[in-house]
Amino acid sequence: MSDCIFCRIVARQTPADIEYEDDSVLAFKDLYPKAPVHILIIPKRHISSIAALEPHDADVIGRCFTAARALGEAKGFAEKGYRISVNTGPEGGQVVYHVHFHFTAGRARGHGA
Ligand code: AMP
Ligand code: ZN
Repeated sequence: MSDCIFCRIVARQTPADIEYEDDSVLAFKDLYPKAPVHILIIPKRHISSIAALEPHDADVIGRCFTAARALGEAKGFAEKGYRISVNTGPEGGQVVYHVHFHFTAGRARGHGA
């Protein structure tokens, strides 16, 4: 998957500002942040989209959320809170087809989008 920008980041072939790493998950700063804190959490293994998830992907997807918890604590947002969002498919606004969770924090927001 050398044509996938996020696989290239996992392989350290493209630079990124890495915030968290374990054996199956990587998190790095979004290049074009849309919030004061904007981090992308990805499975290291290439999965194109939520729409392509298989049952055996459940473990690594769960690990993305435990990484979010760790980031929330490390960044001081465990109490204040943060948002995790996933764009899926063309009408869902997905641009990069390696599944990723947007972790955004640092700006109060209401309900809804
Ligand atoms: P999405 O629209 O959900 O597919 O979001 C893709 C996100 O990836 C956007 O927020 C981009 O700013 C971000 N992005 C694209 N290329 C890179 C990169 N090389 N390093 C970090 N973030 C990136
Ligand atoms: Zn990939």
